[in-house]
Amino acid sequence: MLWTRHLVIVYMYIISVGLIFLSYWSNLSAIALIKDGPSLLEDILNVNIPRLTAPDGTAVSLLPHFMLQWVMGTIFTYIHLGPKHNWTQKAIPFAFLMPLCLATLPIPLKIVKHAPTFAAVLPLVLAKIAIWSASFDIFKTLISGYRHAVSFAENFGLSALVENEWQRLNVPCVLRAFWTIRLIEQFATMTFESQESLTFMFTIQKLLVTGCETLIALLGMTSIISIICHYIGKLFQMFLMSEEDEDKSIGTVSAILFYILSLQTGLTTLQPDKRFIRLCRNMCLLVTALLHFLHNMVSPILMSLSASHNPSRKRHTRALLVCLFLLSAPILLLITLWSRHQPSTWLLAVTVFSIEVVVKVLVSLATYILFLLDARRQTFWERLDDYIYYIKAFGNSVEFCFGIFLFFNGAWILIFESEHNYAGSLIRGVMLIVHSYFNIWCEAKAGWSVYIKRRTAVQKISSLSEASTAELQNFDDVCAICYQEMSSAKITRCKHYFHGVCLRKWLYVQDKCPLCHEIVINQDLKAEIIKVNDDAQVDEQHHQQQVLES
Ligand SMILES: [Zn+2]
Ligand SMILES: [Zn+2]
Repeated sequence: MLWTRHLVIVYMYIISVGLIFLSYWSNLSAIALIKDGPSLLEDILNVNIPRLTAPDGTAVSLLPHFMLQWVMGTIFTYIHLGPKHNWTQKAIPFAFLMPLCLATLPIPLKIVKHAPTFAAVLPLVLAKIAIWSASFDIFKTLISGYRHAVSFAENFGLSALVENEWQRLNVPCVLRAFWTIRLIEQFATMTFESQESLTFMFTIQKLLVTGCETLIALLGMTSIISIICHYIGKLFQMFLMSEEDEDKSIGTVSAILFYILSLQTGLTTLQPDKRFIRLCRNMCLLVTALLHFLHNMVSPILMSLSASHNPSRKRHTRALLVCLFLLSAPILLLITLWSRHQPSTWLLAVTVFSIEVVVKVLVSLATYILFLLDARRQTFWERLDDYIYYIKAFGNSVEFCFGIFLFFNGAWILIFESEHNYAGSLIRGVMLIVHSYFNIWCEAKAGWSVYIKRRTAVQKISSLSEASTAELQNFDDVCAICYQEMSSAKITRCKHYFHGVCLRKWLYVQDKCPLCHEIVINQDLKAEIIKVNDDAQVDEQHHQQQVLES
């Protein structure tokens, strides 16, 4: 553990060593000022006022150096960590002033030139003693830190250790500070060095290009982008009046996304002008990803609003406004990009991502409207479940097709467009595998299993007999699953009445009647359905094989 007082000691040591070098450098530059001719001492003894007070004379130019050396000597006396004997403490300021004093005497320049080196010996020896006497403690601290890390990793795992250290050392904050300081430094050198006045756009472009020229600078830039995305997420969250904490991850995920994108496009290895274009393209991709995050934020809010019959018009309006934004932003982006750029793999990827956002928002909106309509109806809406299923199936199919398209797009870039960028190609290859596993394979599997479950349930339901109007009047009760009136019903083998749709949802989960736990359908029919299912599973395996081969 590094306490503040330990940190103060470290800073004191660094400052004291810095003072030694500063004093050495100041001595050297002061001695370089000394001109040939009578020495300063002779001038003083002769009371040669004109020479002593001349603005460019030796006396005037040496005076600030005298003051500086004295101040540095005094500070060093107080903060150095070496042994503080009485005589060394008194000698230090003199050691600092010694070269300048020698310079005032009538001593040949050749000898005076070596004085700064000798003057630095005493402070350097003190600093050396300090570091040697502390070396055992430093070693001990390092060992104990290492032991602590090992035991932490053994108890909580390596990722927990990394996360803990990441938070303890405030890594993102340090990176942000580093990048900002770097930016200011670049800006300062640019304004001082350039002759003609800089245009705003040129300055921004230049700063962005230099802001991502090394991998570390890129990390700094990533941490800045991460916090911007985090606050964009926060802003939308506030606008939507949602209190969920899950949106914290927007910053982290966009940071990871941006860094991986930069690595796989080899951002740091590009020429400045090409790098700027690449950076803009990556930003476009990041914007579409951000739109996806925002959709993921607004979609559950829409669902909860429509399902809970929430009467707050304000919340509905705000959620719908965000949807409107999510519909118009990608379209505007696409219009701008397609009017200015030739078709390329990058543009296709942005297009696919943007259309995907639009489709997802439309699906969410359609589901929301259907649920709202259902809430306004007095009677049970039998077809609602089907509509919802079709809309979701449409959305998922579009997403799936886009996933396959993106896979081929990425493979194309990997094979034809990444020249000599081996590290980037490797990352892209890994990302393609991850993408094809999660977005293609898992999606296909999940979608297929939902489809099969639904088909089986539909078959089971259609094997049950429909209740006639007379039977329903005779029954005169609500559906035991949804507690709503029944205008139509299915009769199970155990003579219980349910809505067809309600029973179908129940059958997704289990085969038994919700009221009496009897098997709902006839056994021979069940055997037939199982056979159909087996065929379907063969179909599924065949389908998966196709996905793999493609
Ligand atoms: Zn029902
Ligand atoms: Zn029953």
